[in-house]
Amino acid sequence: MHLDAAAADRTFREEVQDFLDDHLTPELRQAGRRTMGICSPHEASQAWQKILYAKGWAAPSWPVEHGGTGWTPMQRHIFGTELNLADAPMLAPMGLDMVGPAIMGHGSAEQKDFYLPRILAAEDSWCQGYSEPGSGSDLASLQCRADKEGDDYIINGSKIWTTHAQYGTRMFCLVRTSRVGKQQEGISFILLEMETPGITVEPIITLAGNHEVNQVFFDNVRVPQANLVGGENQGWTVAKYLLEFERGGRAWGAKLRGALAELRRLAAARGLDRGTFGQRLAALAVNIQAVEYTEQRVIAELEATGRIGPASSLLKISAGTTLQAISELSVEAIGHYAAPYQPQAREWGSNVEPVGSADELVVMARYLDLRARSIAGGSNEVQRNIMAKLVLGM
Ligand SMILES: Cc1cc2nc3c(=O)[nH]c(=O)nc-3n(C[C@H](O)[C@H](O)[C@H](O)COP(=O)(O)OP(=O)(O)OC[C@H]3O[C@@H](n4cnc5c(N)ncnc54)[C@H](O)[C@@H]3O)c2cc1C
Repeated sequence: MHLDAAAADRTFREEVQDFLDDHLTPELRQAGRRTMGICSPHEASQAWQKILYAKGWAAPSWPVEHGGTGWTPMQRHIFGTELNLADAPMLAPMGLDMVGPAIMGHGSAEQKDFYLPRILAAEDSWCQGYSEPGSGSDLASLQCRADKEGDDYIINGSKIWTTHAQYGTRMFCLVRTSRVGKQQEGISFILLEMETPGITVEPIITLAGNHEVNQVFFDNVRVPQANLVGGENQGWTVAKYLLEFERGGRAWGAKLRGALAELRRLAAARGLDRGTFGQRLAALAVNIQAVEYTEQRVIAELEATGRIGPASSLLKISAGTTLQAISELSVEAIGHYAAPYQPQAREWGSNVEPVGSADELVVMARYLDLRARSIAGGSNEVQRNIMAKLVLGM
């Protein structure tokens, strides 16, 4: 398979490159380079999504009827690659890649009409309320409860590891609405506004010194029953559908290519692009090609069936471990410049003079942050269990 061949695709690539030259400002490119974890700096990511939205390019993977571009898989691949190579900020996945597809698949007509245009236009910032202090891999054991009162639910409990909850205006949340029967049969999927009285967000600072995740507390939080997606006690089906998009719905190959291009720049500046180090770079390039082929398979499956399917678990592991390997080699490449701890200097827009070059500034923080990639979105061990069962039939 040649991923990069046809003339029409070359024309499309030039169109994307011209757009990026015109619209991706140096500040936005800096935000892309300052991305350490799952998300780019929030304000930059929202600003960039609004620019893409104005062009009609915010959600290439969405159906045209909901504001997608109608591009071929190859065009989407080219678009994602060029964005990464140009250091564009990553768009927050919680709206576009997660709750958006879930609403398309399971929401009512009213919910689609209200939420989808807002997600596309970056009018809201979404966060994901799945995990709880006692429920991560064993998500079905979740305890955050929603009790009926009139037309509302009253929510009490807590969610943890909630990415960017500090910016969230809305959350999609799994709550327990029944304790009868199997655990999975008592879970509902509900949408709520983060400004609702009774919600508190407490920061969790990561090993890298970043504020990316949070714990969220619910104390008698009143949410209309009309905000359920997929019906009461039907949340497990919606949650699983969404997780396939979380694990498989992103342009992983493009992200990896961008990360490898950055590593190659670091290596070339130190004469490390040959010899043993060069061989390790080549091995990563081969891994990335394998991830891209898997991604093409997943896209083909999505187009044929409307589902990403369990191969999303394979993609999540292979892309995540490759990204981690790139970050490990990046730390090796910059040697002792990985050592200084400089969280202020690496803030987006900071004018604190860094120790070392701007390229080196985020390498160690990114390495540390990417350790969490084996766990976020469902741990690698649990993804292997899913593949053993659903792909290999074991
Ligand atoms: C950076 C980051 C961002 C996150 N963002 C969000 C978010 O926005 N919203 C959200 O809801 N959650 C989020 N999470 C939570 C994430 O989904 C959970 O951490 C993950 O599902 C694992 O759950 P846990 O942390 O409770 O670990 P546990 O489930 O306690 O697992 C601990 C270890 O035991 C292993 N293990 C558990 N069960 C099995 C099994 N059956 N077989 C083999 N091994 C097993 C796991 O692989 C893991 O190594 C985030 C996590 C991280 C690290």
